[in-house]
Amino acid sequence: MKTAFIGLGAMGRPMAANLARAGCLHQVWNRSSEKAVTFVAAHKPVAMAATPAGLAQDNELIFTCVSADKDLREVIGAMQHGLQPGTVIVDTSTVSVDTSRELARALAGLGVEFLDAPVSGGVEGAINGTLSMMVGGDEGTLDRIRPVLQHLTTRVVYMGPSGCGQATKAVNQIMAAGINQAVTEALAFAEAMDLDMDRVIDVVGGGAAGNWFLQHRGATMTQDSFDPGFKVALHHKDLGLCKAMMKTLAQGDKGLPIVEMTLIHYQRLMEEGFADEDISALYRLKRRLFEKDEG
Ligand code: NAP
Repeated sequence: MKTAFIGLGAMGRPMAANLARAGCLHQVWNRSSEKAVTFVAAHKPVAMAATPAGLAQDNELIFTCVSADKDLREVIGAMQHGLQPGTVIVDTSTVSVDTSRELARALAGLGVEFLDAPVSGGVEGAINGTLSMMVGGDEGTLDRIRPVLQHLTTRVVYMGPSGCGQATKAVNQIMAAGINQAVTEALAFAEAMDLDMDRVIDVVGGGAAGNWFLQHRGATMTQDSFDPGFKVALHHKDLGLCKAMMKTLAQGDKGLPIVEMTLIHYQRLMEEGFADEDISALYRLKRRLFEKDEG
């Protein structure tokens, strides 16, 4: 199956690299062409497509990994004239259920299958090929491409019809917000008590409160390193989607407490210029809770 990848960002680049190393990547395209140029130089014989439409014409399986709903719509729109019946598009971005369903419907009219296949596991999971993937769409189509997905993931779970992958990802993002809140607050508390932070992370991480975020971001955040990772602006976008979904699930104006609180905190970080930092930058705000009043 001729396979291509669109979107060589923090997640897309290592995912595409794993496909290239496995010998099953034919072409790539990225909006800023320098990323595609660098990628193909490092992964011969993968080629750089001149346009999304050209890539669509020349490939049977196309992965997308772009930032948000409007970006996915733009990319699919740009591919449209090249798409051939029988092509499968696997979208690994995190977007809304509605966008996924609309695109799946529109593409079905062209004989193109669209799977919403968001992933979890961070940049580390993308690099190591250990992502967890939650998939919505046609199960038979998923089964046909599973041999390719094994190069990106250690877990692929079929969740149901179109949109169910993104609905599951929303669950993941709410949980990730709560974990970020808990870990950053607890570590700021530990720092205020002058504990040895490496030992705190080690011993707490080995017990019942241990988790992926503490293990992968605990040491970096306590050393003031907030390189992405998963950008604050992207998680803010995801929690906005969760908030909109909540409005359709509950009557009245009930918000989800963790989602509402984290949206406020991320908004503050973005206003202070930290939108492109990893979400562990929430530690910046938690630390301030322990600042002594001057004077
Ligand atoms: P990123 O590093 O910011 O990369 C975004 C990619 O999307 C870049 O290749 C960018 O192209 C491309 N893009 C954005 N808007 C576009 C448009 N209008 N047309 C064409 N290409 C466009 O983001 P990321 O961390 O890789 O995240 C990508 C997606 O995966 C997001 O939906 C995110 O929520 C999700 N995700 C991220 C993580 C994580 O830990 N980072 C984990 C799971 C899921 P340029 O290079 O030209 O800007």
